[in-house]
Amino acid sequence: GDRDTVYRVTVAPADQDIVLSFEDQTAAEEAGKMRRDFVANVSHELRTPLTALMGFIETLGGAARNDPNARDRFLQIMEKEAARMTRLVDDLLSLSRVEEDERVRPRAPLDVAALLGSVIKALEPQVAAANVTVALHNRSAGDLVPGDAGQLVQVFTNLVENAIKYGAAGGKVDVTIYAPADDLRLRCTAIQIAVADYGEGIESHHIARLTERFYRVDSHRSRAVGGTGLGLAIVKHIVNRHRGRLQIESEIGKGTVFSIFLPIS
Ligand code: ADP
Repeated sequence: GDRDTVYRVTVAPADQDIVLSFEDQTAAEEAGKMRRDFVANVSHELRTPLTALMGFIETLGGAARNDPNARDRFLQIMEKEAARMTRLVDDLLSLSRVEEDERVRPRAPLDVAALLGSVIKALEPQVAAANVTVALHNRSAGDLVPGDAGQLVQVFTNLVENAIKYGAAGGKVDVTIYAPADDLRLRCTAIQIAVADYGEGIESHHIARLTERFYRVDSHRSRAVGGTGLGLAIVKHIVNRHRGRLQIESEIGKGTVFSIFLPIS
């Protein structure tokens, strides 16, 4: 690439044959920087709700002590902030679990249509609150996909939740399971699950970065809809563990389709 590569050169002691060993340090340095950025991001994300909580605790113990109206209002906000911290910690735990070892291939035979049906059912309160319609279209013949049920439920939940959150208000979300087909990139037969929304879409320069931890197109909007910025990073790792791939297609003003392709054989 166009990056500088940093090498560490080691010279063996003089009483041995001279050996120059070159080790690529670039990857190690980048991993170190990413780890520091990650810790800084996590600290910042936790700090914000904590600061709010501390402020309200102080006010409740002082100025608002004898004001029942203020107390109720503040308690509601505190509950929201605590819920936000809980979501963040839950997502961090999920991420660290799925990052652990991507060589492990989950292999239980799964009925993807049944999993998607349960995911859509569980999201009913959010669907109702956003006043959207979620439709499931099944064009497969009940093919079984080797995988981890809990992890695929998490993938589908994140994608459908995002479509609800970032799709058009009052609009619809289409979830489609396609019949298995040869996948040229994966070099095997794969099943495609597509989650389509008809929202504002995502500009192309953002698309390649969406699966980075804490990357958000609009951080204000993400926080307002309860996002942690970790959902798509979790999706990417789970899909990798299943030896599948994630595809994102988007058109400004028209909407976005997130597809995952999972090998079936
Ligand atoms: P978040 O918790 O912020 O939703 P994600 O990792 O799930 O985090 O998504 C990262 C970002 O990608 C979001 O903040 C949003 O800007 C963008 N995004 C995800 N899904 C969609 C979508 N269906 N339409 C438009 N933007 C999306």
